[in-house]
Amino acid sequence: MRYSAFKVFMQGLTGNKGWKPVWREPEPKPEYDIIIIGAGGHGLATAYYLAKEFGLTNIAVLEKGWLGSGNIGRNTTIIRSNYMLPGNEPFYEFSLKLWEDLEQDFNYNAMVSQRSILNLFHSDAQRDAFVRRGNAMFLAGADAELADEAQLRRELPFLDFDNARFPVKGGLYQRRGGTVRHDAVAWGYARGADSRGVDIIQNCEVTGIDVENGAVRGVQTSRGPIRARKVAICVAGSSGRVAAMAGMRLPIESHVLQAFVSEGLKPVLPGVITFGAGHFYVSQSDKGGLVFGGDIDGYNSYAQRGNLPVVEDVAEGGMAIMPMIGRARLLRSWGGIMDMSMDGSPFIDKTHIDGLYFNGGWCYGGFKATPASGYCYAHLLARDVPHPTATEMRLDRFKRGHLIDEKGQGNQPNLH
Ligand SMILES: Cc1cc2nc3c(=O)[nH]c(=O)nc-3n(C[C@H](O)[C@H](O)[C@H](O)COP(=O)(O)OP(=O)(O)OC[C@H]3O[C@@H](n4cnc5c(N)ncnc54)[C@H](O)[C@@H]3O)c2cc1C
Repeated sequence: MRYSAFKVFMQGLTGNKGWKPVWREPEPKPEYDIIIIGAGGHGLATAYYLAKEFGLTNIAVLEKGWLGSGNIGRNTTIIRSNYMLPGNEPFYEFSLKLWEDLEQDFNYNAMVSQRSILNLFHSDAQRDAFVRRGNAMFLAGADAELADEAQLRRELPFLDFDNARFPVKGGLYQRRGGTVRHDAVAWGYARGADSRGVDIIQNCEVTGIDVENGAVRGVQTSRGPIRARKVAICVAGSSGRVAAMAGMRLPIESHVLQAFVSEGLKPVLPGVITFGAGHFYVSQSDKGGLVFGGDIDGYNSYAQRGNLPVVEDVAEGGMAIMPMIGRARLLRSWGGIMDMSMDGSPFIDKTHIDGLYFNGGWCYGGFKATPASGYCYAHLLARDVPHPTATEMRLDRFKRGHLIDEKGQGNQPNLH
């Protein structure tokens, strides 16, 4: 069923009785060409692009819980391509371009809203660093705009410009950045993949990966064994646990990241704003809630909930740039498990096991990457060569000394 304004109108006239389930609930087949482990944003996007761009449809996406129960439905929904390093920026700009056409492409309303992102700076040195990043963005074909203090005083009068410790001196805008309704992204990709013949199998946990003579043969699941020529791991915060099933140890740690939503307020934030002297980012949802977050909790965990010191730290970050946030009541908070890599950048690569592929290490920034990650992983799975924008995202980059360390923190996963 193709969605359109006309369809919504006609369904309204006929009691909304004609809508069909958005994807099927198939039983697993004994064998597939490709099995994707994990029906998060990246796994579903991979299945979608494999079917749509590469014509491969004998595919199963196996999900241990329900579709979208992981980080794809837990993030703060920010999209952007304001990176600096050559290993990252072209990839994230490719992703932003895919976001721009996504709703037309998969015929689903994902509420892509290019309402802008603004990174605040608080010193002259930080302004110089942001100018450099803006220039790197231009080189990759992205947009960037430097705003001085006077401009921000006009546009965002509620910011604490005269804060004694962190005075707001200006900011770097990316006007094409913004927010997207996260769970609708999972649903849209699932619908697009399912309608092309991909089997999305929920409540099917992968419990083992079968490897014989250095080649993958299939997986063991809570619903029995399934054979496959290729197996694609795509499980974000569970990367370490699933890779261990094939005897692999990854340069990835799992950490908790929390998100927070306030009560609904009248429109106050035009776009996404980030603090430049601490970790705090905030936007306003279409329902009016302020959606914000900060740093990871800083200890290894597989629990999808966070601790109170980080709640306090995030609240302090908010108060430092926009004290009026102190009047808003917090309604909800939750946590997700982040796959923090050693240098803060992801992997889309083959493993040393024939037919076994790995996608992970997205840290707390993988939502914006969803379209490009899916596209590039599909490219690798279909053609066995990396997509041109993902050539640096290799597992052996630490051995080669070619880190993609956007933050300049070194091999310290909890600091990225
Ligand atoms: C609080 C929070 C805020 C964030 N904010 C942003 C943001 O603003 N912008 C941004 O770009 N990124 C953000 N992120 C990061 C982003 O959400 C993730 O990097 C991204 O969603 C990870 O990819 P995914 O969607 O495929 O992961 P997930 O949705 O976690 O998908 C992985 C799936 O694998 C499944 N799985 C695990 N083990 C197995 C198994 N053994 N068998 C079968 N299935 C299995 C899981 O159940 C899960 O559904 C945020 C994350 C969190 C938690």
